[in-house]
Amino acid sequence: MSNFEHVFDRAHARPSTRCRSPLGRYASSALLVAASGLVCAGCQPRGAGQAEMLADLFSGAAAEWIDMSYSYDERAVFWPTAQPFELEVVSAGITEGGYYYAANNFCLAEHGGTHFDAPIHFAEGKHTSEQVPIDRLVGPAVVLDVSAAAEGDPDYQVDVDDLEAWEAEHGRIPDGAILLLNTGWGSRWPDPERFLGTARTGPEAIPELHFPGLHRDAAQWLVDNRRMDALGIDTPSIDYGQSTLFESHRILYAENIPAFENVAALDRLPATGAYVIALPMKIAGGSGGPLRIVGVLPGSPMR
Ligand SMILES: [Zn+2]
Repeated sequence: MSNFEHVFDRAHARPSTRCRSPLGRYASSALLVAASGLVCAGCQPRGAGQAEMLADLFSGAAAEWIDMSYSYDERAVFWPTAQPFELEVVSAGITEGGYYYAANNFCLAEHGGTHFDAPIHFAEGKHTSEQVPIDRLVGPAVVLDVSAAAEGDPDYQVDVDDLEAWEAEHGRIPDGAILLLNTGWGSRWPDPERFLGTARTGPEAIPELHFPGLHRDAAQWLVDNRRMDALGIDTPSIDYGQSTLFESHRILYAENIPAFENVAALDRLPATGAYVIALPMKIAGGSGGPLRIVGVLPGSPMR
């Protein structure tokens, strides 16, 4: 991690470190990889019919593509002790050669805004960001909506009962699924008071964090009984805000199951039937990073 003095450890709520040099060289090619990922996830394009289907999918004629990432800007929500997003304009104007040229440097913590958690974030020896296989990052979306229960309880934790109730209605969570927890918290973005529970920053703000998460028992149940590829949530952490031991992180990441946090637009996905492509910045040795995540709703023409 040449750009950071050390990786931020939120379990111990250490103060953040600052960027020492620009990060521009890590620019991702999310769209191209997204396209190849979807092909690998759901299709084997051999016949003419399949090729036509893929063409319709990617042209938008037979699918709606939903942006599920928030923009990185000065309002993007970060952990109270983390390095927030900063953009430094290097150039924005007409050059001496007579052409327009824009370029920036940016600086941010790995874990802020809509972002990815690589398993090594809480599990020593498990996958770092660039090691997570693409097939863990694309797949059928399973959306569990607990927004009604969480509305009046910012410390709500999704428990085994919620998982079993969902399966009773929609069927077994399929192997390879990306489980997305819709707690309704997306409606609070980017107000830190309502989204995090506090607008303060620094270590003293950590005890004031209140937002829903996944109960450790549910994490253990998923590991023991199902074979999902990844977990996503619309809050800043898969463990609820009052967690001090981050047990759901530890349980899932020990099995190399990664997570997506601060996911947007979860209310636009049905309980089943959509697909997700979630491609993080490929930081070598990274514990996470900025994430561009999109939902694909087959059969719903783009507007
Ligand atoms: Zn994270």
